[in-house]
Amino acid sequence: MRVVVDHDLCGTTGQCVLTLPGTFRQREPDGVAEVCVATVPQALHAAVRLAASQCPVAAIRLIESDAGDDERASADPAPSPAVAERHAAKDQRNPGGHDGTV
Ligand code: SF4
Repeated sequence: MRVVVDHDLCGTTGQCVLTLPGTFRQREPDGVAEVCVATVPQALHAAVRLAASQCPVAAIRLIESDAGDDERASADPAPSPAVAERHAAKDQRNPGGHDGTV
């Protein structure tokens, strides 16, 4: 199993880091979650599924099979309708992509 975090969706709550600090960490400048393991050990699969289910913005995506993960992860042509809707809502809140700094 592999796990990825959608950095555009992550709300920086830190919930996943609290649940699994060896698997997730938060970036220094902005608190966005990152995955710090290449693959998730079998013993942690249930815990990672729990962390993903508890993410308040569904930013954590699981890739269940270890075989061919790179191709599937990079070839994912379109987000699910729910994810696309969240991206659209985020774009509306920040239409120009400006981060608010002057
Ligand atoms: S639980 Fe979700 S929103 Fe919170 S830090 Fe982790 S990935 Fe980001």
